[in-house]
Amino acid sequence: MDMARPYWDMKHEPILNSLEIRQIQLVKLKAILARLNAHAPFYQRAFQESGLNPEKLSGFREFKDKVPLFTADLLKRLLGEYDHDYMAVLDQLLPIKLEQIDLLAGTIGGSGLHALYPLTRQDIDGTLGETLVRGSWRAGIRSHDRILYCFPLSLAIEGVPSLIGLQKLGATIIPVGNDVQLQRILQIQAIFRGTVFFAYPTLAERLVDEAPALMGKSVRELGFKAVICGGEPGVGIPRVKSKLEDAFGCPVFDVGAGLGFSCRHKTYQGMHWLSEDLCYYELVDPDTKEPIPLKDGAVGEAVLTVLEGSGMLLFRHSFGDIHKVFTEPCPCGQTGFRFKMLGRTDNILKVRGIMVYPDDIKRVIQQFTPRITGNLRIILEEKPPRVVSPLKIRLEPATGLKGERQGNLEKEIIAAMKREIKIEPQIIWLKPGSLKAKQTPADIFEKAYKE
Ligand SMILES: [Zn+2]
Repeated sequence: MDMARPYWDMKHEPILNSLEIRQIQLVKLKAILARLNAHAPFYQRAFQESGLNPEKLSGFREFKDKVPLFTADLLKRLLGEYDHDYMAVLDQLLPIKLEQIDLLAGTIGGSGLHALYPLTRQDIDGTLGETLVRGSWRAGIRSHDRILYCFPLSLAIEGVPSLIGLQKLGATIIPVGNDVQLQRILQIQAIFRGTVFFAYPTLAERLVDEAPALMGKSVRELGFKAVICGGEPGVGIPRVKSKLEDAFGCPVFDVGAGLGFSCRHKTYQGMHWLSEDLCYYELVDPDTKEPIPLKDGAVGEAVLTVLEGSGMLLFRHSFGDIHKVFTEPCPCGQTGFRFKMLGRTDNILKVRGIMVYPDDIKRVIQQFTPRITGNLRIILEEKPPRVVSPLKIRLEPATGLKGERQGNLEKEIIAAMKREIKIEPQIIWLKPGSLKAKQTPADIFEKAYKE
């Protein structure tokens, strides 16, 4: 750690996760609510309906009660109302005129738009850039460093907008992109000799695996002092973190999932939330959407509200991510509560108030192979996340295993589920081979309800 200046922002970062920062947040929140009330038609109507007066806001509880959650479903509804005209919808949501947007970024998949980021220069330099710069500073990156920037440069928020926002750190940025051959990345690195590597973890892993054959030496010899990954899960997985750190011979950091940045602690501690003065973070129950107190160990759907800026469309905004938060001090000694990404709201289940992922169920069940075939189905009698208790699981015993032995196995499985994931399922046995062997996450569910 830089003892003279441990943080980029010595005014706000030392007081993260404190009462002092809550006061700052509340003042900024009132100001942004007033701007939305004055200039954004969607929010004018919403506040009128809920009876919210920005100047008289009593606190965060009233804010949560009276401001609607912005989810993918709400965006879909608005698009329906405005004839699928994205620009018309933006005009309803933003406190600025469309012509004031400086940059439009987003994620477009096969089924259309998944995320849209209308950005002004203030959003890019402020919330977005500031978080990246604060995290990069903590990672030891300084103005004399050269950053080999291999995030996608087409449309992605982690591409051009983040690259521009990162500029105020003063480091030299080499814009490479991610749609180039590994050979080309290695050629660029040989010429410019970057000291920091920014990339998706999958690209970093590919470089580890393929660089020796392509250049006759390991990635350690590329000379990076830090690797910054983001955009997809990876560094939070112990195998990936240790593979990358061993191969590159330097610390590997995780950035994103909102405005987080992991620390240099050897064991992954989650991402520190670095910008509480710029973005208000809350958790809600993924089922009822009721607020969940931000206590150590709390799990819920992450909801973000930017407190400054004009365009960035995050106002009680949910990306559908489930986080677990840690409010106790991090062993790395740096400030900011931490969070880990657990998964997505579209595949979480809630059994008697306990949140569980199909992957956790699968992991427990698979410990019992070869006494079972390992194939399973989770029966959903209601639209998830809520599950009618007990959770019902179809399993196949190994060929020949029946009677008392099957009964004992069933007791063992239920006991393991209770011990490891705190739920007691009901097992429904099928003949071996009744279920398909290869399962994608989607077909692990058997829907027994009508949409
Ligand atoms: Zn830490």
